Amino acid sequence: MPIQTTNPYNNKVVKTFEEISDDQLEKKLGKADKAYRSWKNTDVKERAQLLQKVADLMRQKKTELSKLITLEMGKLIAQSESEIEMCASVYEYYAQNAAEFLKDKPMKVKSGKAFVRLTPTGIILAVEPWNYPFNQVARLAAPNIVGGNVLILKHASNVPQCAAMIEQLFKEAGAPDGIFTNLPMGPKRIAKLAEDQRITGMSLTGSEKAGSSLAEAAGKNLKKSVLELGGSDAFVILDDADVDLAVEKAVLGRFNNMGQACTSSKRLIAMEKVADEFLQKLISKIENLKVGDPMDRDTQIGPLSSEDAAKKVAKQVSDSVQQGAKVLIGGKRIKREGAFMEFTILTDIKPGMVAYGEEIFGPVASFYKVKTEQAAIDLANDTGYGLGGSVFSKDTERAVRVASQIDTGMVFINQNVASQPDLPFGGTKRSGYGRELSALGIEEFMNRKLIYIPE
Ligand code: NAP
Repeated sequence: MPIQTTNPYNNKVVKTFEEISDDQLEKKLGKADKAYRSWKNTDVKERAQLLQKVADLMRQKKTELSKLITLEMGKLIAQSESEIEMCASVYEYYAQNAAEFLKDKPMKVKSGKAFVRLTPTGIILAVEPWNYPFNQVARLAAPNIVGGNVLILKHASNVPQCAAMIEQLFKEAGAPDGIFTNLPMGPKRIAKLAEDQRITGMSLTGSEKAGSSLAEAAGKNLKKSVLELGGSDAFVILDDADVDLAVEKAVLGRFNNMGQACTSSKRLIAMEKVADEFLQKLISKIENLKVGDPMDRDTQIGPLSSEDAAKKVAKQVSDSVQQGAKVLIGGKRIKREGAFMEFTILTDIKPGMVAYGEEIFGPVASFYKVKTEQAAIDLANDTGYGLGGSVFSKDTERAVRVASQIDTGMVFINQNVASQPDLPFGGTKRSGYGRELSALGIEEFMNRKLIYIPE
């Protein structure tokens, strides 16, 4: 894929960028390594100040940064602004809490004294996707940089200006050269990069295919990896749920970011008693929305991230329909230039159909009606993915009981899955391993060093 900005609102190429050469890459790695050797010895307060400055700059430049997101991947402008706010809060969270997270952890031992000290390890490679182009990077950059590691970024090829802007923000915030490095390059060069001894950890957020390829390269070189991959989150509406609340959260959960989130509520599973009311109310919320330019604040349906993405989603829908699924609303591309796709609800989905087994990364909800609570749990678990999920019930104890039987990394009660700095984020099964955010996120690429002092 060429490294270029293409505006998905009209599919016009705005700007193309050169890949970094091998010589340039080596120079940048040399600088990152040099930076690490002094950064690891700095005081956590100094590192926290840098993150706070990045957060402040992001807030100051919110308008400019948001427009860049909307230009490169088509997010509605108000949602781009929310991403920038969220992202600033991630940098700020680690700025404010790192000293606490990095405190020595005393161990209970039979004799002597022992504690675990978190120490940095080196250069961490982040391979990131386009769907939250600033925030995905922050989730890895903030905990690692404040922990004393340095970061190199291989961002998605369709958001090169966002990638360059993040590097620029670190520079403006006063980061020494090499603390945060953007590497404009394609994915083919990752296997070779993984051989470099200066790189001590590798993380990828993206598809299973890309994740498996990065994990293979990491494993071959005995490096730790963290993977945040796809999801097919179940959104379970039990028979005692507050239906209006469930509808409100389903709209957000499934259609925010044009449905292009790993934790989108992709499968809506309702018990019979509330299913028809839920469905009818959901349809009324998503029909007759205003389609248009994502830069325009009145627009409610913008483009997907690219023409290819829209084509893929439309094909997954039409394949499912050919296999017997029914379209309740939407189902087609919107007839206008740009990467547009209708908000869609599919029903009558059976095992073996595309919509049953595949992740649909766009505004398409798969709706299922079930008779019992157990049937809802079984259906929620009948997927290779294990990222997130939601359970709706007025009885919190019941909802938690159901949540504990759903095999995913995260379950939210009476809420769509949302990411916030103080909650650990990550999955199980084919959704990957490891955690981002919270205190857990800072430990992934640190050495948990034991120090033991005998009596
Ligand atoms: P993708 O193709 O896997 O791209 C993600 C990143 O991986 C990009 O930087 C891409 O670079 C790179 N990449 C592609 N092929 C690679 C390979 N063989 N080896 C190493 N890196 C490779 O993902 P996408 O389809 O654009 O993004 C959507 C997927 O990401 C969905 O499955 C979604 O659920 C998942 N996702 C997961 C999370 C999470 O936190 N769990 C969050 C967001 C998205 P190029 O752009 O240069 O190809």
